[in-house]
Amino acid sequence: MIVVMDHRASDGEIEEVLIRLKKIGFQIHLSRGVERTIIGAIGDRSILCDINLESMPGVEKVVPILQPYKLASRAFQEENTIVKAGDLEIGGATIHVMAGPCAVESREQLMKAARLVRDAGGAILRGGAFKPRTSPYSFQGLEEEGLKLLAEAREETGLLIVTEVMDVRDVSMVAHYADILQIGARNMQNFFLLREVARIDKPVVLKRGPSGTIEEWLMAAEYIMSGGNYNVILCERGIRSFENYTRNTLDLTAVPVVKHLSHLPVIVDPSHAIGMWRFVPPMARAAIAAGADGLIVEMHPNPSEALCDGPQSLTPENFKMMMDDLKKIAGLMGRKMP
Ligand code: PEP
Ligand code: MN
Repeated sequence: MIVVMDHRASDGEIEEVLIRLKKIGFQIHLSRGVERTIIGAIGDRSILCDINLESMPGVEKVVPILQPYKLASRAFQEENTIVKAGDLEIGGATIHVMAGPCAVESREQLMKAARLVRDAGGAILRGGAFKPRTSPYSFQGLEEEGLKLLAEAREETGLLIVTEVMDVRDVSMVAHYADILQIGARNMQNFFLLREVARIDKPVVLKRGPSGTIEEWLMAAEYIMSGGNYNVILCERGIRSFENYTRNTLDLTAVPVVKHLSHLPVIVDPSHAIGMWRFVPPMARAAIAAGADGLIVEMHPNPSEALCDGPQSLTPENFKMMMDDLKKIAGLMGRKMP
């Protein structure tokens, strides 16, 4: 439930409510908004019968949150969450594009990609150092060596770094190098991993599982938030459907639906959703038109030589064209691109 405090409530009155809730075993999440303070209280509501919170000084009303996700819910926080990564804000007026190769392959490949991303107006470099591959015989990533190359690319270009962490044992190492951690689609419900990234102070991109419902996806976000990390960016990346022409089916409805249900920023990955580079730019444009807060897109200096996901990777030229078009759509939506 949430306890909405009167806008004139004093710090002392807020404190009294917090003490009362903690005493009966509730987990507390305080949100001090511009208008008013909201206390998110998670615990057994039946215990509340004994205390009449609504009669406490400074309390305006007590509202139960009916959805199973609480902290991720729009009911808990009305204003959009803006996730800060370095100097960037994700979820605000500016739309940021995260782009780069599927996997970090070599210094030369990554540096080239990083310069191309920067020159086309991207703000964040993507690249996997740990790759979740369907086949154990496919390229699995350069691991820590790849993370070092990403950090080097950040040094040279000023771009921020987003990269996937697959294993609880690697969370602190990946967090040491990266600015934003990515939980891949296959790990959306890896609850141990979610709990582990909840303990770090870096933003997390949480991809939607290939068979994850919107509710399951928001519950996965809830794991990270209830563990203490509120900086969650949701990423729609296509779901499994009967349609098999494309790699997955991009569920663009998820963008307005999730933005209605949750205050968290939502970005879209058209590359993994579609699996074919040709259809990536139109769906990227559609994502911005649908209200997405950003994109994550695969671009390779030479897609035909990519070790991973070449067929869905944009060439530098196509990436540049897409970025120019996205600026126009962003403008129509009353948003900006850097
Ligand atoms: C990726 O972004 O490299 C990736 C593997 O994506 P997903 O987890 O969405 O399949
Ligand atoms: Mn990929």
